[in-house]
Amino acid sequence: MQISVDYARCEGHGLCEDQAPDVFTLDDEGDLHYRFEGQDVPAEHAVAAGRGAASCPVAALKVVP
Ligand code: SF4
Repeated sequence: MQISVDYARCEGHGLCEDQAPDVFTLDDEGDLHYRFEGQDVPAEHAVAAGRGAASCPVAALKVVP
């Protein structure tokens, strides 16, 4: 699976990072960085990544099967 990130929608709440700190990180400016941009999420990170995507309150993260 992949995750599509709508960076314009992201408001920097950080809930995704709380759920999946190895996948999503916020920098000091509050900008989101997604580790697997444009590639499949490795199997060992898939559950956490899905949890992170589901936690986003503004639906900036979408799981693409
Ligand atoms: S939870 Fe959503 S709004 Fe918050 S940092 Fe993650 S992508 Fe952005």
